Amino acid sequence: MTKKAKNQQIPGADRYIDWLHEACTPQHAVTACVQQLQAAGFAERDLADDLATTPGERLYVIHPDGKSILALVIGERSPTATGYAIVGAHTDSPDLRLRLNPLQSTAGTTQLATQFHGGLIRRSWLDRPLGLAGSVYNVVRNKRGVPQFHALTGQPMLTRRLIRVDEAIAIIPDLAIHLDREKNDKGAINPQNALNAVFASGNDPDAMLKLLSAKAGVALDEADGFDLHLVPLQKPMRTGVDGSLVTGARHDDLAMVWCGLDALVQSVHAEPTPVRTRVAAFFDAEETGSTTSSGASSSFLRDVLVRIARRHPDNPGKDAESAFAQTVCLSADMAHAQHPNFPEMHDKYHAPLINQGIVVKSNTADRYATTGETAALLVGLCEAAQVPLQAFVTRQDLACGTTIGPIVAASLAARTVDLGCPMWAMHSTAETLGAHDLDAMTAVMRTFFVGR
Ligand SMILES: [Zn+2]
Repeated sequence: MTKKAKNQQIPGADRYIDWLHEACTPQHAVTACVQQLQAAGFAERDLADDLATTPGERLYVIHPDGKSILALVIGERSPTATGYAIVGAHTDSPDLRLRLNPLQSTAGTTQLATQFHGGLIRRSWLDRPLGLAGSVYNVVRNKRGVPQFHALTGQPMLTRRLIRVDEAIAIIPDLAIHLDREKNDKGAINPQNALNAVFASGNDPDAMLKLLSAKAGVALDEADGFDLHLVPLQKPMRTGVDGSLVTGARHDDLAMVWCGLDALVQSVHAEPTPVRTRVAAFFDAEETGSTTSSGASSSFLRDVLVRIARRHPDNPGKDAESAFAQTVCLSADMAHAQHPNFPEMHDKYHAPLINQGIVVKSNTADRYATTGETAALLVGLCEAAQVPLQAFVTRQDLACGTTIGPIVAASLAARTVDLGCPMWAMHSTAETLGAHDLDAMTAVMRTFFVGR
């Protein structure tokens, strides 16, 4: 008997796969970040409390909606002297979420009606087992059923439960080719009708919702509000005969959240009290344009950075905002690798390859924040980290995507570079990246944080 060959160990990728499986919605991603941060000695600070800090302090601040998080290692010197070193990425991914009234009955089935978030590849949601995860909110009521109010804020009191049903509770069946002979050539998928998920056979929505509630451990039929996502059930996995690829949902952009988080934790081990304050900023809602209370367009990051600079013990009374003059941001989001079946979709001189290094992205219509100056900064970081750097400029006859890069650059007036790892099938439920590229990205971010 021959021994079964094992995949080569790629520790960064293997740890990422387990973490990514946990991070199935933005709130689960924030929770998964918190676990890593707490294990590395970071402590939570409340956004509503004062943000006086001490050098070497490790802290994180979660936005009240639970979908965005900032983690910081406070430097010895005031940010007004050094600027901040920021790595930014996003916690949301294109997906299907439940409508306000999700239950509907058609053709002898009970369905969960969906609405989409971001530019998802619709067909990638068909014919795959789906779980459910997200948050469920309830008004706090007294024994007589009367809603209770906060004494100070005057708002109804709420509870929030994070739930996950990690089993196949729904499926979105495709239409047989016999009923649409042109589907391989045309095959438009109308999101109003064609992306609703079959949740049970039979027409008893109330009984089915009770069954789902039992699996979720929370009474979904009594929920006063929810953010519930359908979640592809397939666990991320190493693929390719050599195991050199990773296929899974949500690489965009949780792969970059993972690398930023890992680099921040590694930087603490390298140097517990840095000179300059290090920041990892992970935002919700990038896929829909970032204009939410916790998105990159909000004041969340800027407010926290101003407050920390103002209260830093080394601040000699300088304006806190002067910290942004020296601040640099790495905006990390996934990049399009050249596709072996469609190589012509890339400019051949700007065609990043999987497992051949990280990518700098440039767009002179300012869809990316990279400038000549920040591209040169990244060259210096990659050289020091011994990581190859590839270049991406989208074909000039195609529209270019965008990132949080231009938004953070504009809100802080800070120098920013857009970078990422190359991947295929962006916004599919089964995206593929290079297993070796994660360690390369972490090494570059770590060098950035450590600053040598
Ligand atoms: Zn992205």
